[in-house]
Amino acid sequence: MRSTMMQFPLTLAHILDRAGRLFASTEIVSRLPDKSLHRYAYGDFHRRALALGGALQALGLKRGERVATLMWNHYAHFEAYFGVPCAGGVLHTLNLRLHPDDIAYIVNHAEDRFLIVDDVLLPLYDKIRANTNFEKVIVVPLSGSSVPAHYGDYEALIAQSAPLSPPAMDEEDPAGMCYTSGTTGKPKGVVYSHRSIVLHSFATAMVDCLGLGNRDCVCPVVPMFHVNAWGLPFTAVMMGAKLAFPGQHLDAVNLLDLYQSEQVTLTAGVPTIWAGILQALEKEPARWTLTPGMRMVVGGAAAPEAMIRAFDKFGLGVVHGWGMTETSPVGTVNFIKRETAGLASDRQYELRAKQGVPTPFFEIRAMSDKGEAPWDGATMGELQVRGPWVAASYHGLEDDTGKWTEDGWFCTGDIVTIDAAGYIKITDRIKDLVKSGGEWISSLDLENALSGHPKVREAAVIGVPHSKWDERPLAVVVVKEGQTATADELREYLAPKFAAFWLPDGFEFVDELPHTATGKLLKAKLRERFRGRPWD
Ligand code: AMP
Repeated sequence: MRSTMMQFPLTLAHILDRAGRLFASTEIVSRLPDKSLHRYAYGDFHRRALALGGALQALGLKRGERVATLMWNHYAHFEAYFGVPCAGGVLHTLNLRLHPDDIAYIVNHAEDRFLIVDDVLLPLYDKIRANTNFEKVIVVPLSGSSVPAHYGDYEALIAQSAPLSPPAMDEEDPAGMCYTSGTTGKPKGVVYSHRSIVLHSFATAMVDCLGLGNRDCVCPVVPMFHVNAWGLPFTAVMMGAKLAFPGQHLDAVNLLDLYQSEQVTLTAGVPTIWAGILQALEKEPARWTLTPGMRMVVGGAAAPEAMIRAFDKFGLGVVHGWGMTETSPVGTVNFIKRETAGLASDRQYELRAKQGVPTPFFEIRAMSDKGEAPWDGATMGELQVRGPWVAASYHGLEDDTGKWTEDGWFCTGDIVTIDAAGYIKITDRIKDLVKSGGEWISSLDLENALSGHPKVREAAVIGVPHSKWDERPLAVVVVKEGQTATADELREYLAPKFAAFWLPDGFEFVDELPHTATGKLLKAKLRERFRGRPWD
């Protein structure tokens, strides 16, 4: 017997077309470089995304060719998210925080044909111009400046565009592309298909995932060049949600003003952003009126339990998730299941600080040297994953099979425990675990605990070579504005929470910690800095 169902391709063209018909008057708000707000609606977005696609086709864009973007989070980038793939092209978002040499490497490796760039980012483009060879550079006049004659003017192209002629499209066609921002080795490209993006959007929209619906107002603080802003622009269009884009103004005051003026209900970003927001709220608790229960999706690095507790006091709900560039990115999301709803408050917070349970169609396992680790919440192993939005190879490195097992699992490089209820807890990146006297110490657990101390703003724990123990943990700490702390008081604070051998033997106080271009602690740099630090 055969199924009698239609073969119907899962494409972004369908999502765009439906949004244009059903949600034409829903608003899209963007903060511009001068901090004013640009407003229009899905009807305009739909028309302009198609016009951009038509303009790119007129420039000669062919199926599967890459269009790079060097842009902040705003309406024009959003138009490229749909205009490029609906014209058959591949949207390649460039991480503007990378070193210009790395950006140039990525552009060349991806063989990007066209570039769309914010006018305010032209100085950055100037730094990669000599090492790249775009056929056409299209400038978005965001700040109202006139576009230099040798570049294409985004607005003029859209105004003059011939209608897009929808290309033949298969759901497996490439639609988007991102490079990993790893701290070691060359960045690697991951290519997303229409199908993988659509399925990822379905999964993330679900109630027990991000629960994103038509009545939401979504503010992606996570940059649109960091794994497609975690897919939020795609999911929002599928549901017809209002969008509020923060532009380049990611400081706490501008974000909180935007949350208030647009009554944002769902926002997403890395923990460093939330640490700043928390400080602003604690300083002026009465200044902003936010939507009660606004969900704050935290990913990219661990959400410390203290942060989850602190936001609860303001009526704001942290939603903790885990993902990677290679997983589109959402793989696991934390929600309190029926069987855990009755737990005491402290246990619930402990659970909410874990990275959550896998979404449907996202399979996980933890592998130790003894084989698959039991789901006991204690045995550590490397997290391996598979599913329809997990990469099966890197672009241009199809022979590089080191990251995939023979039976098709992707090896994440994250060390986890999985508990009996299926919640994963990231204990470390493999290379960040501290090995002391043959025993593993989780730097992440120590960091999360330290950031619960009222005087601590941020902490990193690294392994520093030690003559007797191989490595011992060193805590590098940034204290909150106007505070001072001592090594003794921090060690005392940690002591009841950990085995004695886990406690850092040293504490260094610094003004700032180094971060990667996507907001993760750059521990390689700290390890380098403190490598020769003498132990007492
Ligand atoms: P990227 O590909 O830049 O998104 O980085 C992915 C990596 O970020 C993962 O492999 C994890 O090491 C880390 N990561 C992402 N989300 C979390 C989280 N919620 N907690 C801890 N680490 C995370």
